[in-house]
Amino acid sequence: MRKLLDIAEDYGKVKNYVYARFGGIGSLDRIYPGYTVQNEMTASGLRTSLGLPSVYFYLAVFDALGDIKCQWMRTKAKILELTGRNVGFTEDDKHYLRFLLKVNNAFAAVLQQKPIQLPAEIQKQYEALAGRADRERLHRYLCRQVRKYHLKLHTDCQHIFSASERAYRYGDHGIYFAVKEKRRRVFVPLTDNNRYKCQLSVRLYPGEQRLEIIVPVYVSVKRHEDYRNTVGIALGMQTMLTTDSGHKYGENFGLYQTAYTKWTEKQNKNYHCNRQNNPGRKKYTMQKKCLEGRLHDYINQELNRFLSEEKPGIICLIKLPKAGAGGGKTSRAVMMWQRGYIRRRLEWKCQEHAIEIVEVFGNGVSRECSRCGGIGERKKGIFCCSACGAVLDEKTNTAGTVRKRAASGKTVRSRQSFQVYEQPE
Ligand SMILES: [Zn+2]
Repeated sequence: MRKLLDIAEDYGKVKNYVYARFGGIGSLDRIYPGYTVQNEMTASGLRTSLGLPSVYFYLAVFDALGDIKCQWMRTKAKILELTGRNVGFTEDDKHYLRFLLKVNNAFAAVLQQKPIQLPAEIQKQYEALAGRADRERLHRYLCRQVRKYHLKLHTDCQHIFSASERAYRYGDHGIYFAVKEKRRRVFVPLTDNNRYKCQLSVRLYPGEQRLEIIVPVYVSVKRHEDYRNTVGIALGMQTMLTTDSGHKYGENFGLYQTAYTKWTEKQNKNYHCNRQNNPGRKKYTMQKKCLEGRLHDYINQELNRFLSEEKPGIICLIKLPKAGAGGGKTSRAVMMWQRGYIRRRLEWKCQEHAIEIVEVFGNGVSRECSRCGGIGERKKGIFCCSACGAVLDEKTNTAGTVRKRAASGKTVRSRQSFQVYEQPE
């Protein structure tokens, strides 16, 4: 443990060094594509002074570099959002700022107060945009926002490190990790027989004298050319999912759900009555797993059917309220409603199929008419608009309003599935 902690500690030191040296404005033009950083880090002499094997050192460098790039992406996204909302800007101003945020060389040049020099084709585009905007003012705006929102990165975590394939080997029901002493490895017995051939993340728990190995799961992204529809959806406790065009998926969801809830309630009652002669929970856990498995199979099967029939490019839905919100008394049935599970599965499947998810605010959404925006009433699953007289299925109306809100830009966030790992060779 001491030897591995030594690695983790140095790993953190390398990351902080990279953050400090390349995280700022001055390095913006050096971090893409990244070999400049690698070369400079080799030349820095840090690796030799720490005595950290290169199988860890360069991973720490790229780890930190990845964080820096993410940090810049977050900063740019924030400024992009602010730009869109700023009423003091003309459309030309906004175009110009968006250009700067998109073209990294231009962005770096503005922040470093250097002249903007771009490849000929883009330079022409730049000059056309710049001619119509108040450049000086916009440059000052950009610098100010970066100073305000761009955070300095630092890690205090000294219990985690990544290991490249060459840093470990499996054997003797365990794993051997390279350490600082040359040609020596430490042996760690493992609790399973899984063997991976990829970069591992290792988290140390020195207090418990154990460690965890974290392995990335790779999925290939399937892009569908014909997935182009924008679909608003409403999730429900009876019918799992209703679209804005009134298509329903998981219509038996309520039945499955009720059966599962009733069974669990009954089991819990029995358990609490028979505490004295405890019947044991093993059988209970087995049965629970089995029932839950069946429910989850149904959910997945219906979500797949939804995607293949609706072919969505964008899915709009209500932002999930924070857990525990909604004022205390939630019934067991609602608690056991697999909403969290459905959401996670939907998000995962959207990543897998390169579908964008757009979240909208949900306040008053089910009382708003999707046709005219007026207020209506709901009775027994039917929505009646008191303004325009529309009579619609309640969930279809909700899904329609969700879609409308998304289209008018009343969105919480929109997320594209770019962070998915592509299948390695
Ligand atoms: Zn209406």
